[in-house]
Amino acid sequence: MVNLTAEETNGYWLKSSENKMIFRKELTFSTNQHEDLIDITREINTVISDSDIHNGVCNIYIPHATSGVLINENDDPNIIEDVLGVLRKLAPRGTFLHDRIDGNGDAHVKSAIIGPSESIPFENDRLILGTWQSVMLCEFDGPKQSRKVIITLID
Ligand code: ZN
Repeated sequence: MVNLTAEETNGYWLKSSENKMIFRKELTFSTNQHEDLIDITREINTVISDSDIHNGVCNIYIPHATSGVLINENDDPNIIEDVLGVLRKLAPRGTFLHDRIDGNGDAHVKSAIIGPSESIPFENDRLILGTWQSVMLCEFDGPKQSRKVIITLID
């Protein structure tokens, strides 16, 4: 038997529409360091406010095998360093079978741990994020000239 302990709130309709809309936009960023986390929260909110969808779910997907998307605090830069420190302990450079191919096995493993996408609800043209939460593009085998971020808005 499943014992549900989570506190429930009432669900509510943001909009009663029979014609659901999906809006997609691709952004491109360059990264500056070998391992880099870039705050893309503002750019995503701009995509949302420029679209015709004001309430819904925003999916952020990064189609690169050495990248990822992370939601966490970007106010204290130590947190990013702490996350990178843990990833470096879990996946030390130069210790992977894939290094025989192109030397970046650790970057693939870090990407696999962080994951390529997140879905975040948005309301009134803004992502619903906690006070200290930011959305960050992660690159573990940079610097890269061109990292795509695919944003899909679903109303
Ligand atoms: Zn590789």
